[in-house]
Amino acid sequence: ALYAPERPNSRGYDLHEARDLDMIDTARAPFAAPHQWQAGPLAAVDLSAAEVVEAINPADPADIVGRTAICSAADAEAAIAAAQPWEADAPTRAAVLNRAADLYEQHFGEIFAVLSREAGKTPKDAIAELREAVDFLRYYAARGLDAQGPARGLFTCISPWNFPLAIFTGQIAAALAAGNAVLAKPAETTALCAHVAVGLLHEAGVPRAALQLLPGAGSVLGPVLTGDARVGGVCFTGSTVTAQRINRTMAEGMAPDAALIAETGGLNAMIVDSTALPEQAVRDIVASAFQSAGQRCSALRVLYLQKDIEKPFLEMLFGAMDELRLGNPWHHDVDVGPVIDARAQADFAGYIEAARKAGTLLKAMEAPAQGHFIGPAVIRVSGIEALEREVFGPILHVATFRADQIDAVVDAVNGCGFGLTFGMHTRIDGRVEQVTSRLKVGNAYVNRNQIGAIVGSQPFGGEGLSGTGPKAGGPSYVPRFLRAEVMDHAG
Ligand code: GLU
Repeated sequence: ALYAPERPNSRGYDLHEARDLDMIDTARAPFAAPHQWQAGPLAAVDLSAAEVVEAINPADPADIVGRTAICSAADAEAAIAAAQPWEADAPTRAAVLNRAADLYEQHFGEIFAVLSREAGKTPKDAIAELREAVDFLRYYAARGLDAQGPARGLFTCISPWNFPLAIFTGQIAAALAAGNAVLAKPAETTALCAHVAVGLLHEAGVPRAALQLLPGAGSVLGPVLTGDARVGGVCFTGSTVTAQRINRTMAEGMAPDAALIAETGGLNAMIVDSTALPEQAVRDIVASAFQSAGQRCSALRVLYLQKDIEKPFLEMLFGAMDELRLGNPWHHDVDVGPVIDARAQADFAGYIEAARKAGTLLKAMEAPAQGHFIGPAVIRVSGIEALEREVFGPILHVATFRADQIDAVVDAVNGCGFGLTFGMHTRIDGRVEQVTSRLKVGNAYVNRNQIGAIVGSQPFGGEGLSGTGPKAGGPSYVPRFLRAEVMDHAG
């Protein structure tokens, strides 16, 4: 593997020890095919949830991973009516969230299996994701103890498929730590992961009326869950366009002081100058652009390479890409798994093909024939302004700059409207200062990769079109799930 994980352990998982992977016995259930998960709403009342959808393994579309009974708009209404804030005091809530963290760790076998088969996660990514989910539970449990002010009552949490455990759990844990009741709407493609997680949260002691799982279509459930006046806040991670739609629905339907916490997209750049250590920069580019098949909002999209080093550097980068193993992440040595579904695959394939026709495709790797795979690709662009949208897959754009153009590169990056992550490889300290002092991004990383923010030490979230804040995994996150209130009681 080309990249070394830099996360500290939350408790005990270490990628460099074969132990974690060896402990997964893929011959046993829930690993052994044809294990299938059965999921559906976990609500405080009986819901009809009449329609059933199948979950397909993105690495192997013949593998039916499970089935989910999905909610109607009427089901969502019934769940809102049945919701009740968690009455327990803050220390009790924290203890239950910590117990859930323990249960997640104890059930890591099933969690790895469902992350791999439903979401296409490589073992590396699955381990990191479990660790992040556990970190969120423990970190927000602790922040809930310091938080001041009344809860908002009811929170809708809408989460993405790219972190079906970590982001899903983080949103819920923060809302619960603050004393709210939660309506959790998982991504349509990863409802099984969500079902496993909510089962463990309930088992840990979160009451059903305080945490209800409502799988279903965003177009059906979204308007109800984000437009009802009884909902005091919405926590959303996903596309900028959907966040804007939620904002409008909330403005029309909800109480005027309802809170929106949105973490959205990015067009993330990295600058590599001629003083960078090439081996290190190449390793970090490969991780930033291609780990998780590029399906992270933090992922590197545009590499700015100093003109003087372009040729040898790209040769080295392409060589490193050739070392990547693509395939079904069920196999432990796979570096790049599938993209999430057939639609994403067709979109990226079309994008790469258009670059090929335009003569700007610098490299495109072969992808396995079966499954929703896209071979990592590199496309030449003039600069970040040439990108019309965030392409959420393993596709890296490369532009070049001359040493006297660094300020212009920073202006272009700031001008794209997004402001999530940024990377820089240089040995010149003054240049780090020159760039980062003017950059408008949430998370800037120097001489390392730009993905995998660590809960508690690298609060994660962007500016501009990338989100509303507050930063996930940071001290200001849980307070945003409360109402700000000052009580000054004299005498
Ligand atoms: N927090 C993740 C990271 O730092 C990205 C989250 C996302 O993709 O939404 O890589």
